Amino acid sequence: MAHVLVVPYPSQGHMNPMVQFASKLASKGVAVTVVITRYIARTTSGGGGRGGVDAGPDVRVEAISDGHDEGGVASAASIEEYLATLDVAGAASLADLIAGARAEGRTGGTRPFTCVVYDTFAQWAGREARRLGLPAVAFSTQSCAVSAVYHYVREGKLAVPPRPPAAAAEARSAAIAGLPEMERWELPSFGLGDGSYPTLAAFALNQFADAGQDDWVLFNSFDELEREVLAGLSTQWKARAIGPCVPLPTAGSGATAGRFSYGANLLDPEDTCMQWLDTKPPSSVAYVSFGSFASLGAAQTEELARGLLTAGKPFLWVVRATEEAQLPRDLLDGATASGTALVVRWSPQLDVLAHRATGCFVTHSGWNSTLEALGFGVPMVALPLWTDQPTNALFVERAWGAGVRARRDDSAGMFLRGEIERCVRAVMDEEQQGCAASARAGARRWRDAARAAVAPGGDSDRNLDEFVEFVRAGAG
Ligand code: UDP
Repeated sequence: MAHVLVVPYPSQGHMNPMVQFASKLASKGVAVTVVITRYIARTTSGGGGRGGVDAGPDVRVEAISDGHDEGGVASAASIEEYLATLDVAGAASLADLIAGARAEGRTGGTRPFTCVVYDTFAQWAGREARRLGLPAVAFSTQSCAVSAVYHYVREGKLAVPPRPPAAAAEARSAAIAGLPEMERWELPSFGLGDGSYPTLAAFALNQFADAGQDDWVLFNSFDELEREVLAGLSTQWKARAIGPCVPLPTAGSGATAGRFSYGANLLDPEDTCMQWLDTKPPSSVAYVSFGSFASLGAAQTEELARGLLTAGKPFLWVVRATEEAQLPRDLLDGATASGTALVVRWSPQLDVLAHRATGCFVTHSGWNSTLEALGFGVPMVALPLWTDQPTNALFVERAWGAGVRARRDDSAGMFLRGEIERCVRAVMDEEQQGCAASARAGARRWRDAARAAVAPGGDSDRNLDEFVEFVRAGAG
């Protein structure tokens, strides 16, 4: 009997799509277990809110060690130290889990695992699977384009353009296998080879180093969205898009908190924002969130507050508890008192995007947030900061027409208030006929395409069926 072990990198942005993938797989009748860390298991359950990891009755959840059982990533000396510890402790703990299931299988307990689907950010899990004789399947939680950039840069097939000042003609990467020409700042920041964050850069660039040994490489994307890039990657590996791995509605409109959920909340969402949204007219609110990890800094946070205020739209802004000290509360006092602004520490983002009052998403362009905005048809204002975000934002604006990108002011090193105001107005103001209407139409078009891809018989659904056949055949 087939039993798939799904191993995400232990952070919100990686767990969400892989937990959703696990539940889709389970819905096809395959036994699935998702791995989380002991720290996450201990700190997110039973907190009284909706936090926790629960992918439904058909998906088992097992905890392994990341080497930081007491404090998780926050207790590591640095992210580099965390990655190094996770590599060793995660591999050993995963091997124990796999061996334990084999032994239990012999005595009639838990079924042995027959396949491991590992996050490309958790290379150690792929390594262990192969060492233990199990089929290893890579899963990229990034876009196909970003994955392709990392892979092609590592392989020497894509040259990063030099730092400005450079002649305009030299300042772009060459178009290759569905990737457009890109300026330096549009490439994923870890692919630039500029010496910053060397461990993380090496980590990102080497994500697909072992993919040639894997049976499949799965992408959280869909054919129509990234067809040409996927075609390029398919010449390298058995690459298949099975997304968007986002819980999307099948019918109906409107939203209430808890309606759409990945089942993997590491923080408790503040559901009260849904009632606040209920008081607002359709498509009137700018939803502002920078995901689970990014830190804007005090100057950029203030600039953002000022830009949002002058744009004059009601806004719902997620500022995580760890970032709260940077918030210029006095600037926002009037708007929060009058009910035109609301700041929460964590939102039920899918429900917010599904709400009829949400008119635009001011986002850092994390890949999940991007797919969620596309899947719920919400046009974006992209304020990309680093990693894969600039490339996602490029595609949102130029290839998919689902929003606009703010331009960072080079001398200030941040997005200035006037630019933020301009972009929010461009996407939301009725008077901005051309831009707002086309961003909205683009978002709606991709909403329909995303939903069609995962509906029964859609491209992603058929790719998943093909994968299920492979898994079943391998289990004998
Ligand atoms: N998210 C959420 N509530 C928030 C902010 C974010 O549930 O207030 C979720 C969001 O739906 C997404 C994930 O956190 O699935 C963030 O992933 P993304 O790839 O967008 O960014 P990252 O956190 O990896 O930078």
